[in-house]
Amino acid sequence: MDKQTVRDFDPSGKRVFVRVDFNVPLEDGKVTDDTRVRAALPTIKYLLDKGAIVILASHLGRPKGKVVESMRLRPVAERLSQLLGRNVPVTGDAIGAGTVDALARLKPGQAILLENLRFHPEEEANDPQFAKTLASYADVYVNDAFGTAHRAHASTVGMAELLPAYAGLLMEREINALSRLIENPERPFATVLGGAKVSDKVKVLENLISKCDTFCVGGGMANTFLVAKGFTVGKSLLEPDRVEDAKRILAEAEARGVAFVLPTDVVVAKEVTRGAERKVVPANKVPNSWSIVDIGPNTVAAFEEALRPARTILWNGPLGVFEIPTFGDGTRAMARFLAARADEGVTTVVGGGDSVAALDQLGLADKMTHVSTGGGASLEFLEGITLPGVAVLKDRAVS
Ligand code: ADP
Ligand code: MG
Repeated sequence: MDKQTVRDFDPSGKRVFVRVDFNVPLEDGKVTDDTRVRAALPTIKYLLDKGAIVILASHLGRPKGKVVESMRLRPVAERLSQLLGRNVPVTGDAIGAGTVDALARLKPGQAILLENLRFHPEEEANDPQFAKTLASYADVYVNDAFGTAHRAHASTVGMAELLPAYAGLLMEREINALSRLIENPERPFATVLGGAKVSDKVKVLENLISKCDTFCVGGGMANTFLVAKGFTVGKSLLEPDRVEDAKRILAEAEARGVAFVLPTDVVVAKEVTRGAERKVVPANKVPNSWSIVDIGPNTVAAFEEALRPARTILWNGPLGVFEIPTFGDGTRAMARFLAARADEGVTTVVGGGDSVAALDQLGLADKMTHVSTGGGASLEFLEGITLPGVAVLKDRAVS
């Protein structure tokens, strides 16, 4: 990676501000999924063991610049304290006299969590004064919040411009795994794309089409491609204004000799609801009043066939409406297939909030080479965009 990390400075006795992504789901004052807290542990432990004073900061939810009691970080601090085996207090406010006092009392090897940054509208506005205040708390800045690196906020960009700024260990892992895909994947390199819309992923498709050997496209976004090929899709989710994009991408794939595999059979349902009547039909025979909700069994087989030679597989987006279990066969089959390929030494990378949720449901996330913690950030990275929160970090000297 061409960015410097926490391993590139001596943290001993320094005040280190660590921007983490603790945007976790809460229910009744408890963290219901602590994946993101666990993901930040290596950086936090590393710094504490080296004798740094660690000032953690994150956003949680969308409080829109006001204090929202249900979005306080106390439950996260409690979970973090359990995981670390030492108490991490949380301040009453991200800034202010009380916070300054609490920070002044910290000793090397101790950590504190600042209250939800987004209680202040200045955070998302990247207000220079707010950034300056945050920067004044520390000697060094570390960003370990890959999931927020695509946003230019005070805690991701503003303050990073004012301090020596380094990548955390999670940030390093994310950048390494994703840039490897774009820059130097072991070939053949295949991408499986799904999810709701072409419009969310068209830029990813455009960037990857020159880098991949094979594409398998399912989910709601495949419908627009089926229409581009002249099929009808009944009541299915469709983006008519993206049919031209789909045609262009299909033509480009053909011109480049890239395999572009679309569903040949699909699961259709009378309604996109639990318990609705469903059946498997050929992709060119979708009944007028039915909706495509999943890829069919022949398509699962065709995708697996197309993916079998691949040494690197990227997966983003569920292949059906997997939230309804009877429409989740294709998504589950892909998760299991990738887990088996990973066992065979194939590099498997999964990104996207819903795709990762599907993996977690099956308990297969640990099988993958890399599971990205950043949904939107990983998509923008795969579009080839330089994320602002990454751009501000110190470059590694070129040797
Ligand atoms: P990710 O979060 O993994 O990037 P997206 O957010 O793009 O994925 O898409 C996930 C959503 O796509 C899911 O809510 C799923 O229900 C929906 N989806 C998948 N296939 C279909 C389909 N055939 N019709 C409608 N929605 C679909
Ligand atoms: Mg999503």
